[in-house]
Amino acid sequence: MIFRTEESQMSTGNTMCPYCNRRISVDLPSDYAPIYKFCGVCGKKFIVERLAEGFQTLALEEAVCCSDPDCREMEMGLGDEE
Ligand SMILES: [Zn+2]
Repeated sequence: MIFRTEESQMSTGNTMCPYCNRRISVDLPSDYAPIYKFCGVCGKKFIVERLAEGFQTLALEEAVCCSDPDCREMEMGLGDEE
């Protein structure tokens, strides 16, 4: 789900929880690295990722590795290529 922000420097965005679809506001990451957030309504963890225009929220199940903070960290951290 992609949301457009009017200002690229915006630090808070209104979005919808990918799990319960309630409107929530999230602090947007300051860079393009995705971060985890918890929904204040259902308590589930989801991903917020800043895009060139706006930002997106992703359920963990639908995130590709490069949009998943833990997965990115593992890929970068291990440095164990083949
Ligand atoms: Zn929720």
